[in-house]
Amino acid sequence: MKASSAPLPSRPQPLHEVVDFSAITPELIAKYDRPGPRYTSYPTAPQFTPQFQEADYREALRRAAKKTAEPLSLYVHIPFCEARCTYCGCNVVISPRRGPEEAYLEAVECELQLVAQLLGSRRQLAQMHWGGGTPTYLTPTQCERLFSAITKHFVLLPNAEIAVEVDPCVTSLDHLKVLRELGFNRLSMGLQDLQPQVQQAVRRVQSLELTKSQVEAARRLGFTSVNLDLMYGLPYQTPESFAHTADTVVRQLSPDRLAVFSYAHVPWIKPHQKALEVMPLPKGYGKFAIFAAAAQVFLAAGYRFIGMDHFAKPEDELSRALDSGTLHRNFMGYTVFPASDLIGVGLTSIGDVGGAYVQNEKNLARYQRTVKGGNLAVERGLWRTPEDELRGAVIRRLICTFALPFSWVRERFGVDPKSYFARELAELQPFLEDGLLTVDDQGITVQPQGRFFIRNICMPFDTYLRGEKGKVIYSRTV
Ligand code: SF4
Repeated sequence: MKASSAPLPSRPQPLHEVVDFSAITPELIAKYDRPGPRYTSYPTAPQFTPQFQEADYREALRRAAKKTAEPLSLYVHIPFCEARCTYCGCNVVISPRRGPEEAYLEAVECELQLVAQLLGSRRQLAQMHWGGGTPTYLTPTQCERLFSAITKHFVLLPNAEIAVEVDPCVTSLDHLKVLRELGFNRLSMGLQDLQPQVQQAVRRVQSLELTKSQVEAARRLGFTSVNLDLMYGLPYQTPESFAHTADTVVRQLSPDRLAVFSYAHVPWIKPHQKALEVMPLPKGYGKFAIFAAAAQVFLAAGYRFIGMDHFAKPEDELSRALDSGTLHRNFMGYTVFPASDLIGVGLTSIGDVGGAYVQNEKNLARYQRTVKGGNLAVERGLWRTPEDELRGAVIRRLICTFALPFSWVRERFGVDPKSYFARELAELQPFLEDGLLTVDDQGITVQPQGRFFIRNICMPFDTYLRGEKGKVIYSRTV
């Protein structure tokens, strides 16, 4: 198998926003309602292994260092939150009282220095993202300190995408001003749902007025893009209530992008989620109907359906990348930046560096001790094989363009997809019979309603799901 660097051909045909929701029946949802990954990586995080150690990460960084002219992406994880939302699936450190972030910032500074040394002269950033947790748990002054620690080692390109996740409940106008002055141009805000009963159930009470004032402030300050995160599948949501939330969001907040995530109920990984089990949790078709109700509001308002869980205004870069076949996907979700290496810094952060995935330590004390001692705090990772690269590229291509041209597979990897993926194509037969995709001599084309099942359509290409492990670790599709 060979991998060529031939450019991606543009999508074989334009995607239309014509989705026949009535064709997505309860039977169809029940048929494909099974646990599956969101494919922000392939292989996915549960396949990472502790056999991948610090020496591996150092080697991965040295390999990445050789591409001196290529810009990087940088993800920085700030794990702290004042209180835990019951639906939370993130890696967080709950600390109602400020204090632990000072020692953490010192540790992050040490890690930045270590990583930068190993990257040699490769220091340009095309993309930076601060996520969490809650990045604005840091004070504005601490945000400045972190930013200058980064720019001490890395250079942000003039057109770099610089994004930050903010929780309106702990974010002040000063935060927004400082972040904008530092150069942040994209803001992502959690919202989830506007219904008071839902907000109380998930212990995240956030008024429309508060969110609106911050969205308006962000616009006034010159942030070029505001993203809002919603979530479906939470207690007490109904199609009507969530459509009302969606309608209010569109009319009053008008975000450039929307992420509408499926609530992942994984109490065996996140025990605090058990608290939600005493409340009515939408499942199966009922859960899908909640998503569909909001999706119809967004489509009617002119938003484009970008993929698994994103919507964007037609003029947004994500929409343009969807049309030109240049959309990408990484640990930060959909992106227009194809940076070949993503450096993850901070507790639990995940990187994609030099042909390997790397995840940092999850224990705060161990993370801080390790990096302050001059070592990289690797917890686990994985070197990708050529087979992983091929399958990862196929899955990304399907998720980002809803099509898989066979010529693209042949040119890029030197294999005949019809014979190489004979088993996978056979496993896709039910999707053909249900009208969710078509397969011909040119390749695979996902039909509009098939886009809601894109995870399922990718899963036959994921060889790791053929083991027992893959059957129990993921959230359900809808
Ligand atoms: S604010 Fe976000 S990261 Fe923090 S607990 Fe809530 S959902 Fe989790």
